[in-house]
Amino acid sequence: MLTSSGERETTSSKKVVVCGGGVIGVCTAYYLSKLGATVTLIEQSSIACAASGKAGGFLALDWCDNGPVSSLARASFNLHRSLSSDLDGPSSYGYRPLTTLSVIVNEFTPVKPGPRGVLPDWVDGSAQEGKQIGSDQSTAQVHPGLFTKRLMTEAVDKYGAEVVIGKVGVVEVGEEGRVKAVVLSDGRVVEADSVVLALGPWSSKMVMLSSLFRVYGMKAHSIVLEPISKEPALISAHALFLSYFQSPGDRPLDPDVYPRPTGEVYICGMSSTEEVPDNPEEVLPYPDSIKTLKRVAENVSSHLKEGNAQVIAEQACFLPCTDDGNPVIGELPGSKGCFVATGHSCWGILNGPATGAALAELVVHGQTSIVDLSPFSPSRFVVTGKRR
Ligand SMILES: Cc1cc2nc3c(=O)[nH]c(=O)nc-3n(C[C@H](O)[C@H](O)[C@H](O)COP(=O)(O)OP(=O)(O)OC[C@H]3O[C@@H](n4cnc5c(N)ncnc54)[C@H](O)[C@@H]3O)c2cc1C
Repeated sequence: MLTSSGERETTSSKKVVVCGGGVIGVCTAYYLSKLGATVTLIEQSSIACAASGKAGGFLALDWCDNGPVSSLARASFNLHRSLSSDLDGPSSYGYRPLTTLSVIVNEFTPVKPGPRGVLPDWVDGSAQEGKQIGSDQSTAQVHPGLFTKRLMTEAVDKYGAEVVIGKVGVVEVGEEGRVKAVVLSDGRVVEADSVVLALGPWSSKMVMLSSLFRVYGMKAHSIVLEPISKEPALISAHALFLSYFQSPGDRPLDPDVYPRPTGEVYICGMSSTEEVPDNPEEVLPYPDSIKTLKRVAENVSSHLKEGNAQVIAEQACFLPCTDDGNPVIGELPGSKGCFVATGHSCWGILNGPATGAALAELVVHGQTSIVDLSPFSPSRFVVTGKRR
């Protein structure tokens, strides 16, 4: 909003410390600073160093319908579209609408010759059949790492937010249970009127959170390949959700394949619940899981076979998961001015913008207009002050 002198109206003079530089912390920092708050974001490693840099970046309007996340997802899908027209300029983060297919791939059955229905030409491997499950109106994508970094740059350059690299130790709570400061593990102290904890799968490492609810990590793998052929538009804008059978009678694997506008193809899958290491740089992929994803790639498309494609990345990261499968967003019971935003599981890139925009409103104005956050309140886990 502009004042009569044409300057941006400062709607808040609050000093807010956001802990965690993943997509959730960064979106919250972006919208808080847009509302005029003085924002310091503290990240232990680098912006988007974890899942927010290694995710697929797939977005869907209505895939969370009929559940508590429905309105958050719908609002966020639309915010992604408007953010892309504001921010996805020359230093592009690759927002684009997509057609999305579910595809059955069967390694052991010869592919029938003849028309292949909805399957695009580059899906020329062992895919047996495909069905459209999303259109360019209902599904889209971003490059998650570039998106997260772009938003943080905007928050810093345009709205004056600050990034501090350091590990958050504890949140100091003063008299009457109100937050006062964040203390880093090297002893630095950053004073705060409000604090937002957006620590992803590391949330449970803070007693302040783990005493109230559990966030556990699900490790998942991904590879990024780039076909060597520079034929223009070789790989079309089709996201593929696979049911992938390696041998008859086996349970199928369910990897996803997301071509990017740069010509790169991202493939992810192979997940398991595991302890999250303290340092995000220590999250390494298992060679067998990477081998399986490469086998998937070459059975989907000859353009992704060894020799026809360059390997750009082999990586792993952790999804932040909660016991009821829903995100936790809101003020912590018993700690005034201390907010949490985590547990977005496999939809954090989609739901980052609406989470950040609504939480920023809650911190600054005490209420939200963009989406009702009450279904995500941390209070749902708490019975008379103790973890349920
Ligand atoms: C393989 C894979 C594919 C995915 N694909 C998609 C997709 O297509 N679409 C989608 O919507 N979602 C997808 N997701 C999910 C999405 O990536 C996550 O939900 C989202 O990135 C979580 O963001 P976050 O900010 O909560 O956590 P993170 O990205 O993990 O960020 C948390 C940050 O907090 C920092 N931190 C932790 N502890 C401290 C501390 N003590 N001090 C300072 N900093 C700290 C960490 O270093 C990290 O940078 C995918 C996830 C995976 C694993």
